[in-house]
Amino acid sequence: MSLHSIKYQQNMVLIRPIILYSFGGFALGGIGALVIMMQWILAPNWVFFCFILLTVASTVALIVGFNRYAKCPACGKFPRARNNKVALNVESCSNCGEQLM
Ligand SMILES: [Zn+2]
Repeated sequence: MSLHSIKYQQNMVLIRPIILYSFGGFALGGIGALVIMMQWILAPNWVFFCFILLTVASTVALIVGFNRYAKCPACGKFPRARNNKVALNVESCSNCGEQLM
């Protein structure tokens, strides 16, 4: 158990609600904007902009959350899976080899 692995495990706990809420906000904003765009319901323009804003804000929150919590505490880079995608809950960092779990 190194300090880095403790920090990383704390980050994995903290990033979970961020992912959950940003996906929820993204879905809600996207569906809301789509419904108004398709004119299934009539809504004033400011409601449409609120949905768009929610979608954008969710995306930004997800990016900020990943930048803050998904990085390896030892080297500050994103641990990647074999397919080169940024991975969460990894056993060890793909960049520096630090044990994270
Ligand atoms: Zn690392």
